[in-house]
Amino acid sequence: MTVVTRFAPSPTGKLHVGNIRTALHNWLLAQKHGGRFLLRIDDTDAQRSREEHVEAIRADLAWLGLHPEGEERQSARFAIYEEAFERLIADGRLYRCYETAQELDLKRKILLGRGLPPIYDRAALSLTAADHEARAAAGDRPHWRFKLDHETPITWDDGIRGPQQFDPRQMSDPVVRRADGSWLYMLPSAIDDVAMGITDVLRGEDHVSNTATQVQMFEALGASPPRFAHEALLTGTEGKLSKRLGSLGVADLREAGIEPEALVALLARLGTSDPVDPALGAAQLAASFDLAHFGRAPARFDEAELARVNAAVVHRLPYARVAHLLPHGMGEAAWEAIRPNLAHIGEAADWWQVIRGPVTPPAFDAETRAFLDAAAQVAETLDWSDPWPALTGALKEATGRKGKALFLPLRQALTAMDHGPDMKALLPLIAREEAIARLKA
Ligand code: GLU
Repeated sequence: MTVVTRFAPSPTGKLHVGNIRTALHNWLLAQKHGGRFLLRIDDTDAQRSREEHVEAIRADLAWLGLHPEGEERQSARFAIYEEAFERLIADGRLYRCYETAQELDLKRKILLGRGLPPIYDRAALSLTAADHEARAAAGDRPHWRFKLDHETPITWDDGIRGPQQFDPRQMSDPVVRRADGSWLYMLPSAIDDVAMGITDVLRGEDHVSNTATQVQMFEALGASPPRFAHEALLTGTEGKLSKRLGSLGVADLREAGIEPEALVALLARLGTSDPVDPALGAAQLAASFDLAHFGRAPARFDEAELARVNAAVVHRLPYARVAHLLPHGMGEAAWEAIRPNLAHIGEAADWWQVIRGPVTPPAFDAETRAFLDAAAQVAETLDWSDPWPALTGALKEATGRKGKALFLPLRQALTAMDHGPDMKALLPLIAREEAIARLKA
């Protein structure tokens, strides 16, 4: 059986790191099995859903390289939900309720006050046809609950959490449709998972109790439930899902110079026992993706770690991948010379400036100036194809300087920096006349 996964965001805001991770893991799971990954836009809530968010979600997935094989929109599927709804009513699995939010709240408080779990008492199940008629005549419209089957314990073997068991008598019948006819997320999602042939639902553990009720919805729809796996939630370095983490999106990360390869490398492994490895590309991450490697402890997302992974990724990026992001005129040799020194690609511009000049070296003392004059004279005699070994070799011989005393003043005069790319790779990129002028200045 082919694996079919889906990412099902509600387009009510931008994706944050937590849902990007969910999307990535669903993509990896599908890739690993040569299956299909679908995007389902959960836009039943017309009030809060926005087209700009749908577009941003597509753009974010594309930036990450997660290309869905299909896209569905719940707002285009209301007729399908209506049909399933009628069927479930006919089967006695949905029933009408009229309690207001305040009434329900009061019922819950009374139960809690008696030390009992705040489970809905199913009072509406005993309403008669005449009661419903009277309600309708008074202009009251019902909301609808799904009637859990109390006789069948709910179980599933969770891909991450292991065997799960829930007693339906300890759960409230979930509301599936509001009085205004709008849908809550759970039933349409189950209907879609059946219709789209979803084999694996991988999502955050905040959905575990939804899964418990959805397991019975799948059965009521005449389908067997997909495999479920629930990941521990992400936390920030402070230990809880911080405000920052909940709002940190692709645009912010891009702005900070984070490359998609880095985000993928980190998030693919976050929450698993597998080490983060910046050398691994998406295909290798998919091949090694395994739900059995996920732990139950919250996964910590650390921006400093992301920055480190990003630097390691940038150090490996080939010229062809970055050429369009580099300063005009910067070629492959320059990219390869400076790449090991970058935390992010944007810093390439600083090194391009060092190569092209002008640079402002520090003030040198008289002795160093004499040494640099000697260096300028040597430079004038050199063939510029591999000047650094020749320059330093000749100066070492002529002045007896070595190590830092030999290299640092040259680096400072030539780049105006104390540290930076390997001078053997950098110096040939600086034009000979420019280099001589810098040594003389
Ligand atoms: N739209 C739901 C959410 O964003 C989907 C959850 C799911 O079934 O994956 O929470």
